Formats: sequence, structure tokens, C-alpha cells
Amino acid sequence: MAKRKLVIIGNGMAGAKLLEDLLLRHATRRYSIEVYGEESVPAYNRVLLGRVLAGEDGDAIRFEPSVQDVSDVQFHRGLRVDQIDTMARQLHTSDGQKHPYDLAVISTGSRAFIPRMEGLMTSEGSLKVGVYAYRTLDDAMSIRSAARAGGNAIVLGGGLLGLEGAKVLADSGMHVTVVHLAGHLMERQLDPQAGETLKQRIMDMGLFVRCGRTISRIHGDSSIQGVTLDDGTFLPAEMLVIACGIRPRIDLAQQSGIPVNRGIIVNDTLATAIPGIYAIGECAEHAGQVYGMVQPIFEQCSVLADILSGEKPTSRYRGSRLYARLKIAGVEVASMGVLEPELPDDEVIQITENRKKHYRKLIVRHDRLIGAMFVGDPTGAAAAIQAFDRGEPLPTNRLELLCEPSSSTRKTDRDVCNCKQVRLSVIRQAIQNGCDSVESIAACTGAGTGCGSCRSEISRILNDTQLASVGR
Ligand SMILES: Cc1cc2nc3c(=O)[nH]c(=O)nc-3n(C[C@H](O)[C@H](O)[C@H](O)COP(=O)(O)OP(=O)(O)OC[C@H]3O[C@@H](n4cnc5c(N)ncnc54)[C@H](O)[C@@H]3O)c2cc1C
Repeated sequence: MAKRKLVIIGNGMAGAKLLEDLLLRHATRRYSIEVYGEESVPAYNRVLLGRVLAGEDGDAIRFEPSVQDVSDVQFHRGLRVDQIDTMARQLHTSDGQKHPYDLAVISTGSRAFIPRMEGLMTSEGSLKVGVYAYRTLDDAMSIRSAARAGGNAIVLGGGLLGLEGAKVLADSGMHVTVVHLAGHLMERQLDPQAGETLKQRIMDMGLFVRCGRTISRIHGDSSIQGVTLDDGTFLPAEMLVIACGIRPRIDLAQQSGIPVNRGIIVNDTLATAIPGIYAIGECAEHAGQVYGMVQPIFEQCSVLADILSGEKPTSRYRGSRLYARLKIAGVEVASMGVLEPELPDDEVIQITENRKKHYRKLIVRHDRLIGAMFVGDPTGAAAAIQAFDRGEPLPTNRLELLCEPSSSTRKTDRDVCNCKQVRLSVIRQAIQNGCDSVESIAACTGAGTGCGSCRSEISRILNDTQLASVGR
């Protein structure tokens, strides 16, 4: 029987993970697979862009699939799909060619949102020299080559991306000010006290933070020379990095008559309303939700691979419980669920350690965790994520959750790496088998090779396990 042609449009994290999941399920037995990517480089781990900003080679963050043999897959790099003719089942690409397909998966991701600001563009209509978005490998390389010790940089946006970028620039010797519109940092993930704790820790590292402010004007003719904030303050700067959020790339779907809202609308099978067309990743909208983090996106990839490969055609995506465990500018931060109690009976447990600048908070309803945040001290974060994700009942003494035993004495097994779903027992086994570094554990188990946020925990497990074996 002739193979059907399956095309993946967008070779970012969703496209690459879907391909990996399809290959793991031997989908090349039924499809010839082609991947179209606008970027000219092989797929890379966008989460790790900070490493390139800090000076590492682009190859260091290549998306390494656990399936090494991709010889059955045809890659079209540096080629944009401009339109999908859904009647003729053909892709129209930026080189003027047409390519037939049977099934298409759209994984076009997002683009950086650039807010309107006076003086942003040159008279030719391009961003002024020194003004950058922070989304792609090219962006990271451009920012890095423009950064110079002793220079002044403004980072607009005090979310995950902005803070991460700001720390790297400060580490390169720049004087960095983060300008953030909301009253506190990471306001979508943290309450005001957690945001303030994070701000204090970031300022301790030598960065400046101005919350509740935005840029009203960018100065300079063809290159930026400084900015005026909305309170009239002038800040000299030869670099402005814009990290103000993202917008799903739905233009291709829109032009091809595929229904969109904020994202491309999909159902529980990740199918759009047009037969034969699916959408995953940041460009997809499921049950009114557009996701901007890798863990839910990887869950979508797994479900779609189950369905398309025929391995588990009844698999369904029911949405994801959003949680994030991150190392932001060197500070451990975890957040999940609601930020504040919503009902009169909701319990709140908070631990504030002012001197250490640590903050932990749980919000509990009927013995179940409905929200939590951790800044500075991640003790209990992994257990909280598990309790939140699975809806498990909490111990009667809630503090037990925040004082989890060290990983060497913990009895219960759990996922340490949520992206690659690697369990604690697997990591311990790898250590017993001789892995003696985070890198070797990652190479052996895959743990830490997704978003990378569990790497500090893997390091702790390694230390605990090594200490425990010395003590025996
Ligand atoms: C600096 C940074 C740090 C981050 N840190 C974290 C983190 O710590 N944890 C976390 O969970 N998430 C993080 N994220 C978010 C995470 O990277 C995204 O959620 C993830 O990359 C989304 O995957 P995607 O495939 O949907 O989109 P993308 O990775 O953006 O991939 C989309 C790809 O499609 C291509 N494309 C678009 N249109 C077309 C077209 N018409 N034809 C062909 N190709 C096309 C694009 O060029 C791009 O390569 C971070 C993001 C950035 C930028």
C-alpha cells in the first residue's frame, strides 16, 4: 500500500517533538513525513536560548531527538509555507513551489509581541539599530554580538523571558534596567509578595527593576540612544530588548480558511475544522486556552502521535494543568494554579523568610492544592507539582508538603522531569549505574533535556544519593 504524505509545518519545539513521538511509534511505516521550517537551522530547544545569549554555540541547544535515525524524513529548512490549498491538498511555499500532502500538522508557534512606542522604527520602517525582540536563535545571536561590557541596556518586560535575558546581559557587564508595566514581576505566576521577593533577589544581582512603568519614547535617529519612561525619567541606552509576550502565528491558517480565534481552533484530537489538518503548540487553541510553555505542548504532541500513528487512536487531549518550575535569572521559581484564595473556606499557608528572601505559599481547597508558588527555596515544589497535577489529597499537616524529605530518603516515586517524564527511580538507577554528573544523567535518561528546569533538582538528587552512599 502506498504511503500517505504527512507534512509538519513549523520545525520548532512542537514540530520537532511531534516528529520524535511519531518516529518512536514507527509512523514512517504508514507515512512519508516532510517537515517545513521557516528558520534555516535544524530544530533547537528555544527554552535554552539564554545559553546562546551567554556565548554558547547554537549547536549546544539543538533539539536532540531520542530517535537518532531520521533518514526517512525529508526536511525543507529555510522554506516558509505561505498557504495551504485545503481543496487540492497542496502547500504553497515561499519559493513559489506547490507540494501535495494528505495530512498536515500546523505548528507555527508564536512571534514576539512588539508594542507600539514613539520612535521605535526608523524612517525606512525597520526597528532602530539596537532594538531587538527575543524569540529566535537569530535574535539571541544579534543581541549577543551587540552587547558590550559597560554599555546600557533596557529590557522591556519582567516576565520569564525578560528576566532571563536581563540576567545574561548583566553577566556580560552591561548596566541593565528591567522596565515592567505591571505592579510586580511575573504577575501572571506570582502574587505581589512573591513578585517583590523575586525583585529583591534580582536587584541583589546588580540589575535595576522599575515596575509599574513603560516606555513612552525611544530616542535616536537610526539607532537607539535612550528611552523616556511614562513618568518622564530619561534612561540612556544603546540596547533595548523587547520581551513583552507573544502572539500565536495564525496568519497561515487564516489565509487558508482554517477557523481561528486567538489561536487555531482544535478539538480533543488536535484536529482543526478542516479535514486532514491538525494544529499543535503555541499556535493552537484548545478549549479556549492557548499554551505558551513546553509541558502542555509536549502532551499535545504525544496525543497526536498516538492518533496519527494508529498506536492509540482513541487517545484524546483534555487540556493541561499549568505549572511552571523555572530557574529565572538564577533564582528558583515555581508556580501553579490560582494566585490567591477565591472562596471564604480556601486555606492559605505561607512561609516568608525575609532575610534569606525566600517565599513559599500554598492555597488549599477541600484538602486539594489549587495553587502554590515558591521563590528562592524550591523545597516542596516537586511534591506540590505532583499533588496539583494529580489532584492528590494533601497531608493533614500541610507543612509536611513544604518540608519534603531529601530525595535520597523519599519513599514514593514521582516524575522529576515532566517534559520527558523521567521518574525519580530511573534517575537514582542511572546514578547507581555510574552516572556522576547532570550531563551524564541527561544523556542516559533524557531527564533535563526538555525545558531544563529540573536540572537543579537532578543535581540535588545526585548530591543526596552520593552523600547517602558515602554514609552507608
Ligand atoms: C527565550 C525563551 C525562553 C523560554 N523559556 C521557557 C521555559 O523555561 N519553560 C517553558 O516551558 N517554555 C519556555 N519558553 C517557551 C517555549 O520555548 C515555547 O512554548 C515553545 O518553543 C513553543 O513551541 P512551538 O513549536 O509551538 O513554537 P516555536 O518553537 O516558536 O516553533 C515554531 C516554528 O515554526 C516556524 N514557522 C512559523 N510559521 C511558519 C510557516 N508559515 N512555514 C514554516 N515554518 C514556520 C517558526 O519559524 C518556528 O521555527 C521560552 C521561550 C523563549 C523564547
